[in-house]
Amino acid sequence: MGATEAKTVHSPALTYFSMLSLLSLCPPFVILLWYTMVHADGSVVQTWNFLKQHGLQGFLEIWPRPTAIAWKIIFVYGAFEAALQLILPGKRVEGPISPTGHRPVYKANGMAAYFVTLVTYISLWWFEIFNPTVVYDHLGEIYSALIFGSLIFCVFLYIKGHVAPSSTDSGSSGNLIIDFYWGMELYPRIGKSFDIKVFTNCRFGMMSWAVLAVTYCIKQYEANAKVSDSMLVNTTLMLVYVTKFFWWEAGYWNTMDIAHDRAGFYICWGCLVWVPSIYTSPGMYLVNHPVNLGSQLALYILVAGILCIYINYDCDRQRQEFRRTSGKCKIWGKAPSKIEATYTTTSGETKISLLLTSGWWGLARHFHYVPEILAAFFWTVPALFNHFLPYFYVVFLTILLFDRAKRDDDRCRSKYGKYWKLYCNKVPYKIIPGIY
Ligand code: NDP
Repeated sequence: MGATEAKTVHSPALTYFSMLSLLSLCPPFVILLWYTMVHADGSVVQTWNFLKQHGLQGFLEIWPRPTAIAWKIIFVYGAFEAALQLILPGKRVEGPISPTGHRPVYKANGMAAYFVTLVTYISLWWFEIFNPTVVYDHLGEIYSALIFGSLIFCVFLYIKGHVAPSSTDSGSSGNLIIDFYWGMELYPRIGKSFDIKVFTNCRFGMMSWAVLAVTYCIKQYEANAKVSDSMLVNTTLMLVYVTKFFWWEAGYWNTMDIAHDRAGFYICWGCLVWVPSIYTSPGMYLVNHPVNLGSQLALYILVAGILCIYINYDCDRQRQEFRRTSGKCKIWGKAPSKIEATYTTTSGETKISLLLTSGWWGLARHFHYVPEILAAFFWTVPALFNHFLPYFYVVFLTILLFDRAKRDDDRCRSKYGKYWKLYCNKVPYKIIPGIY
């Protein structure tokens, strides 16, 4: 299957428009968001007025140049994570079978890498070997270096996809922009065992989320000699979320990001730049806005956030347990209700997938996105409502997941045909039960 076939679920005009817009707008947006959070009090109006007054020249002036220290931080962090990915022991895990019949094999050592990373980072601070405030103080330069470095990395992925693909799951759409944006290889590797998407998505991107959450907390502590309860709630919820991610990392290797989206700008640049900058932004805002919530409100928000993260985890767990046991498990205490969906692979083989139609997956076809969005809201709401920008991630995530639900539905409809229709009749709502 060519990359074009896999991706153009919207009209071609909309597809090209959105690809070119994201390629050109995301990099400057990362810088503007950082600038607004760190230097303009989190106020979009303040940044807007600055740009109105100083124009393009002003914008170029606020765009930090990548410095040697920024490159050094990125390189040391990236090399450390790559080494952990290669060296730490882990169980052998098989990914899902691809459309060309290839089954990737992984070493599941994400939780160990996460633990080693956080212990190392916090110890470096505790024993005064490296102060995380250095990262915060050079954040703009780091994002700038990441923007350019990751673009070059995506060019490398494009060239590798053409000249040295790692598996049969690779191909060109015949269009340079689509190949660069959506990627060419599904499972690019360096050598036999260094999986590039595990590195970019999990060990660099998701790991940086936890590392930066800790960084913001330490920065506030070093600046004020205490940490506000709003920052504590934010950091705790983000860390619970990322811990959940690494706990379930092998499950993530069965999701759309890994099993369907190829390694290109969309996924790889997104995980290398967008995750460390945008996903962590509520914490970035709180550094200079130590809101005091009071212990009761802080506790309510914390509990609500943890509950949402748990429900999101349980949705993913239910689906994976159901698939792993071929439906021979209990869902909410009962035998699951299911559909046996037949489909044909590109090589013409007929296969069967089970679709779960009870439990969380009986409420709506993508119900798991509801607690995902709510969890993001709960780790942002400690910032209260003085500024809109901390909520940008929640708004972005909502758009991303609603679009993803459409992409996934379209893909599943073309994969399962009448069986997907049957599923839609049985579970008519896409995301929000009774509403959408
Ligand atoms: P998944 O890939 O986990 O689930 C969708 C896939 O599951 C479908 O493509 C289909 O694949 C299979 N499937 C669909 N319906 C059923 C069913 N009823 N029973 C069994 N299998 C089914 O979804 P996502 O990758 O979107 O989400 C995974 C997690 O990642 C979620 O927790 C989500 O919230 C989170 N996420 C977070 C994002 C963020 O930026 N913070 C972005 C995206 C996701 P098949 O071909 O195998 O049938």
